[in-house]
Order: sequence, then structure tokens, then C-alpha cells
Amino acid sequence: YRAKQHGTGVETYEADADLNRPERLGYGGALREALDCGQLQVHYQPKRDLRTGELAGVEALARWQHPTQGLIPPDSFIPLAEQTGLIRPLTAHVLAAALEQAARWAAAGLRLHVAVNVSARSLHDGSLVDEVVQQLEQTRTPASALELELTESAVMSNPEQAMAVAARLRELGVRMALDDFGTGYSSLAYLRDLPVDVLKIDRSFLQDLSTNCRNVSIVRSVIDLGHNLGMRVVAEGVETPEALDLLQDLGCDQGQGYLFGRPVPAADLVHP
Ligand code: C2E
Ligand code: MG
Ligand code: MG
Ligand code: MG
Repeated sequence: YRAKQHGTGVETYEADADLNRPERLGYGGALREALDCGQLQVHYQPKRDLRTGELAGVEALARWQHPTQGLIPPDSFIPLAEQTGLIRPLTAHVLAAALEQAARWAAAGLRLHVAVNVSARSLHDGSLVDEVVQQLEQTRTPASALELELTESAVMSNPEQAMAVAARLRELGVRMALDDFGTGYSSLAYLRDLPVDVLKIDRSFLQDLSTNCRNVSIVRSVIDLGHNLGMRVVAEGVETPEALDLLQDLGCDQGQGYLFGRPVPAADLVHP
């Protein structure tokens, strides 16, 4: 079903002049092939509850296992997918993989929330809500198992539409998270009105916490801001026991980072 879906309308979707550039044709064609041939994999990174230490959920992160170039990181192929009109099938692919995996975990008695990243193009493309509804039905997964992560910049590229889409998804029971918080140019007015449940502090603020008291101040303020707005707060990029200590002292709800585990294939995820 997925292959059929990928073949639908992709050639005509969002075609732009950039597509005619030879390097785009080559690389974009390879990405298309990657989607069709299973080179696009999904790894999972744990999120820990900072009070209980329990596994609170996982974030699904796309990986391109290129036959000759090795592992290509998402920061290089996600922008390419956005430029070549492949972001819609890519988002669908990751969503399907993540929900199928959540269903497998549920069948094994493990209720794990799975978070999927949604880029600006996907957020504003108009088909995201239908895609999510269809995939939830297909995998017989409750909406409450799914969280969608939107970056601040994706939201701010069209705040009104982002809010409308987020509100519809949330009505379905999907949890919404604001990713990389603090790196986009955020407006507090939008943060106030945005229907999100979770604030993810960008990992750049988690660096050098023992020497950089400004980062500590920012982390403390974001945790308080999120809590005062009724949101759960997640810290990204938790790498050291010192960072963990501080986050626990500041009352941060969840942590994600190399200290707890790197993104890995589902089979390698260490269960509690
Ligand atoms: P993100 O959503 O903010 O994901 C977290 C990134 O931080 C991941 O990088 C993860 O490997 C990395 N990370 C986690 N813990 C640590 C840590 O302790 N230290 C350090 N230095 N890094 C840590 P990754 O997997 O390379 O992904 C980069 C970005 O690519 C993601 O940032 C997300 O914006 C985007 N991305 C990944 N998968 C997808 C996808 O399926 N769809 C879309 N639209 N974007 C994706
Ligand atoms: Mg994310
Ligand atoms: Mg992030
Ligand atoms: Mg990021």
C-alpha cells in the first residue's frame, strides 16, 4: 500500500525550478529510490521520565542507509526532501514505520509513546491530518500513542495554519510537541495560543551547564514557562550526569540524550 501511495502524484507535486538542476535530479532521484527500496530506516531514541527514571517514550528519527555513501544524516536529506517534493512520502514512510512499531510494542505489552517529526512543508501541505488519521486506522493504533514534533520555525513560517492543523490533530487525541524550543524566533503570543502539550528545550542550551550559568538560567526559565503554560517540558541533548542532576533539581519532566541512549533500531532499544 505504501509503494502505491508513493507513486501517486509525487512527480507533479510541488515541482519547482530547482528540480531541473542536475545535482538535484541525481540526489533527489536517489532519495526517491531510497524510499522505494527500504534504504530509509527509522531509529528510536528513548525519553526518560526524570522523576521515576522510567522509559517515557521514544522519538522516531529517520536514517538514510545509502548503498555507497553510508549513513546520511537527516539534517542533510530532510531539506533535500523538502526541496524535491519528497517530504510527503517521507513523512508518510516514517509515520507508518513508527506506528507499526508502536503496535508491535503494544502487542508485546509495552505501551510506548512514539514521537514523529513533522517538517514545515508537511505541516503546511494540507494532507497531514488525513495522513495521520489513515495511518492510525491502518495500524489500529490509538491516537494517544502518537506525538508529533513541530519545530518553532516550521510553526512560525505560517503560524495561523500551524495552529489550525495542530488543533485538529490534538482533537484526534494526538499529542503535540514544540521541538528545538529557543532556536527559532519565537513569539510568546504564539506560544500562548499554540495548542501544544510538550515543550522540548533545544540541546544547545544543555551544553556546558557547569560553566555556562546563562544556559542554566535559560533552561530554568523555559521549564518554568512551559509549566506555567500547562505543558510538559522535555530536555534534549542530556549527555552528562551533571546535566541530569540539574534538570531534576529544576523539575524538568523528561530527558532525552546520549546519557540515556542514542537513536538505535527498534530491536536494539534497551527495555526497562
Ligand atoms: P530533532 O528532532 O531535534 O532530534 C534530535 C536530534 O538530536 C537527533 O539528531 C538526535 O540524534 C540528536 N541527539 C539526541 N540526543 C543527543 C545528545 O545527547 N547529544 C547530541 N549531540 N545530539 C543528540 P538526528 O537524528 O541527526 O536528527 C536531526 C534532525 O533531523 C532532527 O532533530 C529532526 O529535526 C530532523 N529529523 C530526523 N528525522 C526526521 C523525520 O523523520 N522527519 C523530519 N521532518 N525531520 C526529521
Ligand atoms: Mg524532534
Ligand atoms: Mg529537537
Ligand atoms: Mg534539532
